[in-house]
Amino acid sequence: MDEQFIKRLITTIKCGICGHPYEGSNVRILGHRDDLWFLSVFCPACHSQGLMAAVIKEGSLPELVTDLTEEEYARFYPLAVVGADDVLDIHNFLRDFDGDFSRLFSKE
Ligand SMILES: [Zn+2]
Repeated sequence: MDEQFIKRLITTIKCGICGHPYEGSNVRILGHRDDLWFLSVFCPACHSQGLMAAVIKEGSLPELVTDLTEEEYARFYPLAVVGADDVLDIHNFLRDFDGDFSRLFSKE
């Protein structure tokens, strides 16, 4: 599987925000494990940026893997990606968390 092939396949996918088709130059390949590819895409029309996980098998069109609904996708797609600081925050939170969710969510 060569990268040019991946980039060509990406042009069959449209931006989740504005519907503009992606171009090969809007895609950065982050890496892959077997048929699962991780891509960073940039929309030239609305300038939104996102991460994409795609199962790409030779001889088939890419299939977008997400458990988000269309509304959630539209809401979360333009947001900043999770960074090291976010992971540290949740790490610190979990370190001190006693597991009492009912107390956590009743706290206003
Ligand atoms: Zn767009």
